[in-house]
Amino acid sequence: MQGSNSDGGISVKVYFKELTIVTRRSCELINITDEVKKAVSESGIKNGIVLVFSKHTTTGVFINEAEKGLERDIPFYLKKLVVEEDNFFHHHFFYKDGRMAVNAWAHIRSVLVGLHAIVPLKDGNVLLGGRENIYLAEFDGPKERHVVVQIMGE
Ligand code: ZN
Repeated sequence: MQGSNSDGGISVKVYFKELTIVTRRSCELINITDEVKKAVSESGIKNGIVLVFSKHTTTGVFINEAEKGLERDIPFYLKKLVVEEDNFFHHHFFYKDGRMAVNAWAHIRSVLVGLHAIVPLKDGNVLLGGRENIYLAEFDGPKERHVVVQIMGE
């Protein structure tokens, strides 16, 4: 059986890469599909799954169409859904950070979008639909962000 080792178990390889992305605006979408595909080809893994995971609670990771209008509409409507002018419980002094928290809206937008995407990998190809691209969403930029790409399979 393909993918079995000598004792009949399945041998799964795991490849890990951390992308560093410097965002330039307070709220923006960054298409990271090419970076994810590059990590997949570096991994040598042909079949399995690709996990894309953001390490920040004021960002998002999602899949959608790479279209210039949508790249503006999605942040615009997330801003309309979660307004910045409100009395948030999160907005108080944090001794561990030595400063006021002022970004509850960024955390809430992150919850709406989610922090990860999982894509199937088949015969060396990331199985995205024709219009599907992988985005990092910045909600509290500009900042340096770290996105993990973990590929598991054979
Ligand atoms: Zn915060």
